[in-house]
Order: sequence, then C-alpha cells, then structure tokens
Amino acid sequence: MDVTPLTGQVFEPGQDGYAEEVAGFQLAVASRPAVVVGAETTDDVVAAVKFAAAHDLPVSVQATGHGLTAGTEGLLISTRRMTGVEIDAEAGTARVEAGVRWGAVLEAAAKHGLAPLSGSSPDVGVVGYTLSGGFGLMARKYGRAADHVRAIDVVTADGSLLHAEPGSDLFWALRGGRDGFGVVTALEFDLVPVTDLYGGGLYFDTADIPAVLRAWRTWSVAAPDTLTTSLALIPYPDLPMLPEPLRGKHIAHVRVAYLGDGGDELVAPLRAAAPALMDTLKRMPFSESGSIAAEPPNPHGYHGTNATVTQLNNAMLDAIVEHAGPGADVDTVLIVDRLGGALARTPEVPGVGWDSAAEFVVRALSVVGDDGIDPVRHAHAKLFDALAPWTSGRLLPFVYGEHDPAEVARSVYSAADLRKLRELKPGFGS
Ligand SMILES: Cc1cc2nc3c(=O)[nH]c(=O)nc-3n(C[C@H](O)[C@H](O)[C@H](O)COP(=O)(O)OP(=O)(O)OC[C@H]3O[C@@H](n4cnc5c(N)ncnc54)[C@H](O)[C@@H]3O)c2cc1C
Repeated sequence: MDVTPLTGQVFEPGQDGYAEEVAGFQLAVASRPAVVVGAETTDDVVAAVKFAAAHDLPVSVQATGHGLTAGTEGLLISTRRMTGVEIDAEAGTARVEAGVRWGAVLEAAAKHGLAPLSGSSPDVGVVGYTLSGGFGLMARKYGRAADHVRAIDVVTADGSLLHAEPGSDLFWALRGGRDGFGVVTALEFDLVPVTDLYGGGLYFDTADIPAVLRAWRTWSVAAPDTLTTSLALIPYPDLPMLPEPLRGKHIAHVRVAYLGDGGDELVAPLRAAAPALMDTLKRMPFSESGSIAAEPPNPHGYHGTNATVTQLNNAMLDAIVEHAGPGADVDTVLIVDRLGGALARTPEVPGVGWDSAAEFVVRALSVVGDDGIDPVRHAHAKLFDALAPWTSGRLLPFVYGEHDPAEVARSVYSAADLRKLRELKPGFGS
C-alpha cells in the first residue's frame, strides 16, 4: 500500500519486518493488521491517519505492546521509532515522543535531580501508561501520572494535529480514557524533585501468607503518603535463573517505595511479622526503582483484571488466599495495592477513570498456557465473585488481554463520565 509522504517504513503481511513490528510484550493477543506504519515523525502519523481515513481502515497504535487489549486488523501505527526525550530542568517538565519507554525518562530526568511518575516497569511506554491513568511508585504522594500532564499533541481521526491543554474536553478524555480519541505524538508532563528512595521488597514463605497479608494491611493503612506499597502473592517456578530462596515456592512479596527518612524503622512491623526468605530493602537512586517489583522482562501471554475495594477485611483476605493463593485452580500473580493519600484527593486538573473512594485495588494476572484463556477467566471470576460485596470499580491500566470493552467501560468510568466520553467519541467503550 502506498502510504505517502512518509519517512518511516511500511510493512504488509508476509514482508520482512512485519512480524517483528507487530510483536509486542503481550503475546496472548494476536494482531494481523492489513498494514503497519513504522512512524518516525508526527508527519508520518498524520499521513498514516489520513491514509486510513481515505481507505476506511480502522487505526490502532502500539508502542511496546504491554497493554494490548484487542487484535488489530486495519492500519497499525507503530510508534517505537519516536524516541525523543527533552527535559526542561527549570520548569521541571519532560516532553516525550510517542514511543518513549519510562526507562529513558528515568535516566534523562535523574541527570537533573528529577524523577517521573513512572510505574513498576521501566519497559512500559510513557504514553500508553499515562493515557491509562498511570498508577506509579509515588502515587500516594503525587497522585496519578495522568493528573500531571501539561499538554498533549494528538492526531485526530481526520488527520488534524491538535495541541490539547487543560480546559479542553479532549485533554480531559485522553487522560484516563486512553482509547479512540486520536494518536498521541507527544506528551508534556511534570517531573518531581526526587533523586532517591528507600525501596525493594520482603519475600515471605507460603505458610506465612495469611499472617503477612494481615500485617501488611494494618501497616499500609497507617502509612504516610510518602509510602506507596503493594503485596503480591507469586507462584515462582523452579527455575535456575530465579533467586534460590524463592524457586518453586508460592510466596508473599511486599513491595516498598518510600520517599522519607527512617525506612528501616518504618518497615520494622513487617520484618517482625514473619522471617523473610529474602530482604532487598535499601536506599537506591530513583532511576533504579524499576527493580522494586522484580517483574519478568520477557514477552509472554497473560490475562488479567482487577477490582477496586473500599476495605480489606479478613473475609476478603481469606477469599484472596483461597482463590488466588497456593491452592488456586490456576497459577495467579495476585497483587494488592494500597491506594489513598494523594489518590483520594481531587487533582488540580482531573482526568477520567479514577475511583478516589477506593482504599485498595486487587489485581489478578495469569500466564495464558496451551489450554487458552478460558481457565484463567474462570479462575479470576471465582476470585472477583467472592470479593463482589466489597468491590467498587476497576482501574484501566490493570485490565490485561481481551475483555468485553462495554463491561470494562462500565466498571472503570462513572455513568456520567461514560456518557460524556461517548458524546465526545460515539461508540467509546463498546
Ligand atoms: C509488566 C507491566 C507493568 C506495568 N506496570 C504498570 C504500573 O506500574 N502502573 C500502571 O499504571 N500501569 C502499569 N502497567 C499497565 C500499562 O500502563 C498499560 O498496559 C499501558 O497501556 C501500556 O502502554 P504501552 O504503550 O507500553 O503498551 P501498548 O500495548 O503499546 O499500548 C497500549 C495501548 O495504549 C494506547 N496507546 C499507546 N500509545 C498511544 C498513542 N501514541 N496514542 C494513543 N494511544 C496510545 C493504545 O490504546 C494501545 O493499545 C503495566 C503493564 C505491564 C505489562
């Protein structure tokens, strides 16, 4: 297909480079676009969108493929070559192009004593993360990444390049609405004056899971906003590349990102809860914060969902262990994040898709094996059905793989916000 004028590359099925361009981190969603535009510039994105409009092709965007939720069929704009990062140290802001990953911003910002509101993985794309809302390692102190965006350059469905700023509906909808409002070519956002933190994790053995869950809940509820923390139940395979104390065990992993002084005193109640199999807590440069969650860096197929909850009582903790712990039907990485702090306050320029009344989010993630997604869906449904009396909503960034878009939209957005999103983009979330 002749997508011109273009400085980037065009790939069609069967051509060299097509499979590599389509491949993302998430392998459980199969994409077979009719054409892929490997965009290098904003003009390439404009040309690609105009070409798609003229040929009646649906447009999708991919940076890293961490957040794929549907296979693509029309024209895919691959942004991975758009990697420009500019730091304005005086203003305390960054401007990044569409294909930038958090790792590049962490490194560039650190040179100026600054840090971005990045999340658990430095490999995730800045734009997809931020448009999803962006729940990061300093979320309880500073709130969502989406609420610290200054400006968005976006190419809308007719090929117009717009500069969206606070006050416009498009600016509101993009920050949390993510899908369908256009292709973002660049994002400008705040950095924060953070150079280092007390972070890492405590790993506990299977038998200690119930006690550690209870200790972490009590501890995290009383914690200052300078602490952002989660607890993961993880079934580790017995593989030689994993740390020896964790191999083949179903463990509890408490993750800590603390911006204050006296980290050892802060975590003393957790260290006292049970003997740790491994303790990696230490002061570290913020640029190394991507190591805290110790997530697998290799592409794989996964499926997952989540629910925000207004409390975490003992019945809920028991349900979590029963349906997503060592005896669960399907191996599940179960993560509970403490919310609250700045996340409970209304930001200066709010985006959409945040449940400020929620106290925790419970997330489930499973690898998709040879038997497909159905056993995973079934196992996750058992967990979230058991938690249903206490759930209030869902967070978009932690919806992984293929789901019913209407059901996701109804749980992520309030009825009023969903109505407004659909007025701006007919068919949004369906
Ligand atoms: C290992 C891992 C760790 C994660 N950690 C966190 C975390 O700590 N906090 C958090 O909030 N989320 C986290 N996420 C979720 C992540 O933020 C979302 O999946 C996000 O959508 C990924 O964006 P991406 O660009 O990397 O992925 P992609 O799959 O390339 O993009 C995902 C979607 O974002 C949209 N998008 C991407 N680029 C553009 C663009 N230029 N214009 C318009 N739309 C675009 C598209 O709808 C696209 O389908 C994590 C995900 C994984 C797999």
